[in-house]
Formats: sequence, structure tokens, C-alpha cells
Amino acid sequence: MSTVDPARVQRLNDADPVAEGRYVLYWMQQSQRAVHNPALDHAIGRANEKKAPLLVVFGLMDDYPEANRRHYTFMLEGLRETQERLAERGIKLVARRGAPDDVALSFAEDAQMIVSDRGYLRHQRRWRKRVAAEAPCPVVQVEGDVVVPVEEVTDKPEYAARTIRPKIHEHLDRFLALSTEGTIEVPSVDLDVDDGLALDAVDAVVDRLDLGDNVPPVRGLYRGGTSEAEAVLQAFLNDHLDGYDDHRNQIHSHAVSHMSKYLHFGQVSPVWLALQIQESAAPDEDIDAYLEELIVRRELAVNHVYYRPDTYDAYECLPEWARETLAEHADDEREYVYSRRALEQSETHDPYWNAAMTEMRETGYMHNYMRMYWGKKILEWSPDPQTAFERALTLNNRYFLDGRDPNSYANVLWLFGLHDRGWKERPVYGKVRYMSKGGLERKADPEAYVEKVDRLAAKARSSTPS
Ligand SMILES: Cc1cc2nc3c(=O)[nH]c(=O)nc-3n(C[C@H](O)[C@H](O)[C@H](O)COP(=O)(O)OP(=O)(O)OC[C@H]3O[C@@H](n4cnc5c(N)ncnc54)[C@H](O)[C@@H]3O)c2cc1C
Repeated sequence: MSTVDPARVQRLNDADPVAEGRYVLYWMQQSQRAVHNPALDHAIGRANEKKAPLLVVFGLMDDYPEANRRHYTFMLEGLRETQERLAERGIKLVARRGAPDDVALSFAEDAQMIVSDRGYLRHQRRWRKRVAAEAPCPVVQVEGDVVVPVEEVTDKPEYAARTIRPKIHEHLDRFLALSTEGTIEVPSVDLDVDDGLALDAVDAVVDRLDLGDNVPPVRGLYRGGTSEAEAVLQAFLNDHLDGYDDHRNQIHSHAVSHMSKYLHFGQVSPVWLALQIQESAAPDEDIDAYLEELIVRRELAVNHVYYRPDTYDAYECLPEWARETLAEHADDEREYVYSRRALEQSETHDPYWNAAMTEMRETGYMHNYMRMYWGKKILEWSPDPQTAFERALTLNNRYFLDGRDPNSYANVLWLFGLHDRGWKERPVYGKVRYMSKGGLERKADPEAYVEKVDRLAAKARSSTPS
């Protein structure tokens, strides 16, 4: 019996069940993990009910929006482990080159039914819609990469964390629970299906892809995969959760969890992660502060993309007050104006900002507080706010391992006023929140941050093949 909460499960079409199908198919796309995965748990339950094997398939496309070598390498490291862990449980995972929807449909003919996980970005929704429309069997979607299912929280885009917070908290008792991991009754490891890509050779798979952009991987610093995420989290639980609330702005330290990249690729479950935090011995204020980021802030971003499907990545979806005030100040004189190239190469007058850009470019990560400072200065140093927005989003998605995520769109738009309120009016920013170098120096230790980035960037470069 599957114990997946019914609110996580949605039927996407009304096709009749196909009793003669060879297998139940789990089309894996967003939740790229073998544990704590409600779509997988649901699929195991259905396969056992039908006394059928469960086949898992994954479509690896060359031109995933804005993805480059850095992203693919991290993702495939994780997928390789997922394939191994599933095989240990008697379940075969086949990764095949092609668009995710095409690959799912190429296996649909022989499926009794298809289970997919859920993604909120435009292309992820389009793929599921097409599979549901064209598959000759029932297609079911299971929501496993948020704590509270997006439509359970609210039916509209929320204004801010303060408006979504109570709506999320109301449901936490119910949804902070893991589904039971079932045991598959009919193994699929020997199923007569082409094995697909050899994931044990990650570099060889990436080499064969036709990638437009070759941002290098950051293996010496961050590796993909559920086990790696578990180890990184354990270190955070041991050394840094206690004090998280106070230390969040300590940009020079390592007092953050580094979970965003694993969450982005679905290599860890947010429910599992929240439970690990909740069950720790850390003080309540640290647990609460962490869960506020992981659940309220992260799921506010999901709410943003889900309820603004056409505009979530566009300047036009900023609140009216923000667009108006930025337009009024668009022609204000700027003390510094940099080209996109100068920004990308860390060539500004500000050593702290240059370090932040270097951390992003060379390591694929940046501390949250520096992300805010980094983005606010792009607004200040670009010729106009629209150009600033495009630059910030492009750089964010090109370099961050956690880029191209609902969090990317919501947070880059936050720089320009989304989910925020008006502040004291000033040049260039208008009423949009401002951040200063002086404030950074008062609240954090940016000199020590610059030194930290020098060390990290050297380590990242030394592990990058030339
Ligand atoms: C300009 C800007 C751009 C950003 N771009 C991204 C992005 O592309 N991808 C991304 O995942 N996050 C983004 N963030 C949000 C946040 O900075 C990162 O999620 C966080 O720094 C990741 O590090 P961590 O996992 O160590 O965080 P921790 O401090 O350990 O936080 C735990 C988890 O809470 C969530 N979280 C933390 N801060 C935020 C936040 N401000 N909003 C939403 N969720 C949060 C993340 O899932 C994170 O993994 C951006 C923030 C800003 C200001």
C-alpha cells in the first residue's frame, strides 16, 4: 500500500488502463532520487498492485534551457547514483538521450500506466501536458519536491512571505511526513529493454552532448548525488545548524547547508530535509530560521512560477509600484556603469562585489547575503533596470549549480521589488530596497570573504581539466 498523501497525486488524463502493458513506467524528470521520492513510492505501489515490473526512464536532452557542462555533470553524477540505488532494489533505470517528453512517450506503448513527478517551470509543465495528451495509458503526476503541494497552499500568486507563511504553516503537520518506501515485487533489472546511456562514465556522456555553453564543472568543490548531499547535510547538522539564525550573514564562514543545488536537481527531498532539521538537537530559533528559508521562502518561489506561468521570468511581472519607481529613476545619473563582460569577469571597482562574482563564476555557488549585494549592485551599475534584470538572471542561471530554479526567478525579481515593499526613495533604485557597501562592512566581514573566495576559486580551478 502506498502511503503517499492523496493531495500529492493528480491524474493528468482519462485514458483507460492498459492491462496487457509490460510494465508500470515511472518517467523520472524532477525528483532525481531513489529515496524519499513520493512519485517512486506511488509507482512501486501501482506496480505491485498490478503484479508488474516497474521501469524508470529518464530523458537526457542536449539543449535543456540554459544548461551547460557544469549543470550536466552535477546532474549526471546524481543520476548515476540513483540508477545504482534503484538497481539494488530490483528496479531498472534507463537514461536515454532525447527530450524528456519524447523519451517518456517512446516507452508509453508498452506501459500499463505512467507515473511522473512534478515540475513547475514552463517547459516542465509543457512536457507533462504532452505526455498526458499522447500516451495511450493513464498518466498520473506525484508532487514530491515541495513540502506543501502548491495548490493546497493557495490558488493565487502571493504578495510576500508574510502572506504565504500562515497558509503554509496551516498544513505543515499533515505534509511533513515521508511516504513508506515499498519493496518491488516483480523486479525489472532483467527486463528486455535497451540499457540506454552508460551513466558510470559521466564525462563520456557529457562529451557526447551537443552543448552550446561549456562552463566548466566544479568537481573539486561540489559533487552531485544523494549520498553526497547526505554527507554535506550531516556536516552542517554537526557543526553549523546550532547558531544558524545568528550566523546567516557570516559570509566568510561555511555556516550554511549548501542544500540548494541538491534540491534543485531533486537529489534530496525537502520533506526529508525538513525532518532532519526538525529532529536535530539545535535550539528552536535555529530550526525555525532554517525551516523559514527551506519551506516558506522556497515555496513562495514555487508559488511565483506556478501562478505566473507566462511571465515568471520577465521584468514585466514585477509589482506595479516597483516598475513605476524604477521607470521614474531609469535616467538617473549612475556613478559607475559597467558592461556585462566587465561584470562577468569581476572587473569593477568593488573588491567585495568582484569576489562574489568570482565565487559564482568559479565555484557555482554564492552565499545568500552576497547574492543580495551582488544583484543590487547590478541594478546600480547597469544602464537601466531592464538591462540589469536580464544580466542578473543570465549570470545567475549560467553559473549557479542551483540556477534555473523557481528560486532563481523569484529571487532575481526580488532584487527589483518582487515580494518586497517600498523603501525610502533614492537615486537609481527609487523606492526599491537598497544595499550599501558600508552596510555590508557593518554586518559581515567582507575582507575575510574575499580571502575565502580566493582559496575556493584556486581549489576549483585546480580541479578543472584544462
Ligand atoms: C539574487 C539572488 C539570487 C538567488 N538565486 C538562487 C537560485 O538560482 N537558486 C536557488 O536555489 N536559490 C537562489 N537564491 C536563494 C538563496 O540565496 C539560496 O537558495 C541559498 O543561498 C542557497 O544556499 P544554501 O543551500 O547553503 O542555503 P541555506 O541558508 O542553508 O538555506 C537552506 C535552504 O533554504 C532555501 N533558501 C535559502 N534562502 C532562500 C531564499 N532567499 N529564497 C528561497 N529559498 C531560500 C534553499 O532551498 C536552501 O537550500 C537567490 C537569492 C538571491 C538574493
